[in-house]
Amino acid sequence: MRVSVISAQGDVEEHVLSCRKAMENLNIEGEVHATVNKKEVKKSDAIIIPGGESTTISKLIHKNSLAEEIKKLAEDGIPVMGTCAGCILLAKYGDEQIHKTKTRLLELMDVKIKRNAFGRQRESFHAKLDIKHIGEFDAIFIRAPVIINAGKNVEILAKIDDYIVSAKQENILALSFHPELTDDTRIHEYFIKMGI
Ligand code: GLN
Repeated sequence: MRVSVISAQGDVEEHVLSCRKAMENLNIEGEVHATVNKKEVKKSDAIIIPGGESTTISKLIHKNSLAEEIKKLAEDGIPVMGTCAGCILLAKYGDEQIHKTKTRLLELMDVKIKRNAFGRQRESFHAKLDIKHIGEFDAIFIRAPVIINAGKNVEILAKIDDYIVSAKQENILALSFHPELTDDTRIHEYFIKMGI
């Protein structure tokens, strides 16, 4: 199995390490690459879009038409996981901030996303979530987005109050937090299993 972590910007290396650890735990042979090379990404069996700054990542992946390649692969059924800024980019609809910054979304998941939803007071925090298919998970949120509307085909995996913080639509997995910043690799394991 070949996993590509899109290395435009953000916490790329942490995803690479978590993913390798998850593969080891599952006893799956494979390679994990940090890349923005279209040809390399084209050979992937799974793709991760990390957290960082969504406007910047969006600009970089649209510059060399990597965005189109990711969309094509996703539409062919390859699992794509987006965390935090990556989660923003997966969405079909954005909030005002996303429009104002002219951030181009990949539109792979039928959801509306709100950027920096927890405001200044709670810029970063931990929360114990009960995630469907995973169980209890200590999640790290950093200037996190949330899903404020989800279409019928979207499976809601976790919430904080009325905010959706994890969701899945077929082969697309969205998380507003950072599983790669913890030692717990269960989410990466779940994601890898989506691709086998
Ligand atoms: N606030 C960032 C954005 O809107 C996302 C934060 C993150 O990925 N940690 O792009």
